[in-house]
Amino acid sequence: MARQLSAQPTETVFRDEPYSRSCQARILAVNEMGGIVLDRTVFYPTGGGQPGDSGTLTTADGAVIPIATTVKGRDEDGGPDVLIHVPAEGAVTVSPGSDVTAEIDWDRRHKLMRVHTCLHLLSAVVPFPVTGGQVSEGKGRLDFAIPESNLDKDEITAELNRLIETDSPVADDWITDAELAANPELVKTMSVQPPSGAGRVRLIRIEGLDLQPCGGTHVARTGDIGPVTVTKIESKGRQNRRVAISLDDI
Ligand SMILES: [Zn+2]
Repeated sequence: MARQLSAQPTETVFRDEPYSRSCQARILAVNEMGGIVLDRTVFYPTGGGQPGDSGTLTTADGAVIPIATTVKGRDEDGGPDVLIHVPAEGAVTVSPGSDVTAEIDWDRRHKLMRVHTCLHLLSAVVPFPVTGGQVSEGKGRLDFAIPESNLDKDEITAELNRLIETDSPVADDWITDAELAANPELVKTMSVQPPSGAGRVRLIRIEGLDLQPCGGTHVARTGDIGPVTVTKIESKGRQNRRVAISLDDI
């Protein structure tokens, strides 16, 4: 039987407070690979097409542990969901029970949030099922199932920037699994399962523009995305079109 990493799940501070850059936390466990489990964290784990956060953990005596990325972890024997902070090579060793300050690379994360939120708007501007997507620092893309396509880069760019300039609020909202099952049209992204658990699913609502289940990190208002450009539209298979966007200020 696998050794249980932690008896409690990691509290996901980034979910309710996406603008929090740091938090105090306690080390619950360190796995065989040196991955660090905290009781709570501002580090978003790789998932839903968004890469995990990088940053630092700083111990009470001032030792700084660089974190390369963050991933989801779960014990083989069905322990609680934990998040694993993956140290960069050569990081100092730490022990469970120590207190640390967890701080993300905010410049990188803010760009990821801006791109991620822009992809929600893109899925509203291009109203076809989403078959895949990826967010990176300053750039992102969605794949759409579109049999016949005459998508126009300039038109989509103009419409995205129009929606961004409405400065609409972005907020989360939770519904029950049963409500989601009764409204399957809410799920636009066929390849990504929304976060659920305890009978609830998290929705992201961009007021008047978009509503869909999502577990990622988002900006508070569309205006925070800033100006964007559609950089490329490609065919990926007979019925697939890939639309790539970029922030103008990267
Ligand atoms: Zn999202």
